[in-house]
Amino acid sequence: MSNLYPQAAVTKNEMESLEETLHAPAFLEKYDLAYPPIDHARLEAAVGEMLASVGEDTGREGLIDTPHRVARAYDKLLEGYRTDPTALINNALFDVDYSDMVVVTNIEFSSLCEHHLLPFMGHAHVAYIPRGKVVGLSKIPRIVDLFARRFQVQERMTRQIASFIDEVLHPQGVAVVVEGQHLCSVMRGVEKHDASMTTSVMLGTFRDDAMTRQEFLQHIQRRPTAR
Ligand SMILES: [Zn+2]
Repeated sequence: MSNLYPQAAVTKNEMESLEETLHAPAFLEKYDLAYPPIDHARLEAAVGEMLASVGEDTGREGLIDTPHRVARAYDKLLEGYRTDPTALINNALFDVDYSDMVVVTNIEFSSLCEHHLLPFMGHAHVAYIPRGKVVGLSKIPRIVDLFARRFQVQERMTRQIASFIDEVLHPQGVAVVVEGQHLCSVMRGVEKHDASMTTSVMLGTFRDDAMTRQEFLQHIQRRPTAR
């Protein structure tokens, strides 16, 4: 979509000042970034302990390598804690002279609920109205991953995605809607049929202007895979 419009890479100075923002200790702390690497030895011991505590034979063939596999899997599932936000943006920040709504719908995500360490997954829908700056469209799903690949709750994930885009682009407004299925509810039988949940955060124009908000919500409803 952004290719339809003229755009130019931001100046070196602007990029440097963004990098300063993204690497500031307060920013990294606010968004739980720059965690140290996972302590694999400790995690493997803990997984072995967990298996033993439920009565399993940790030496049997199927489980012998499980602690090791879980530790490796967590590198990926929790990589949001260790993603460099500057590398994520990777110079894909552009000056534009339009202020049409940028909308990316149906961004698949999967995350781990911090209450039960079980997956929740679904789709995120993101929109913003530029104030002179846009990011490459492919960066939006990466921002979603940044906040999905952690121990999370859906409400906080939704808020973090919106707030991160707000701080990076200073747009006129940001809207994020997340639809998630929570396996902790499904598997425990808390809600038998549908443990789906929708969360949304509207900032700026999307919060203040009903028409703008409506336009975004119509984009979501129009999408081909709507339930
Ligand atoms: Zn849960």
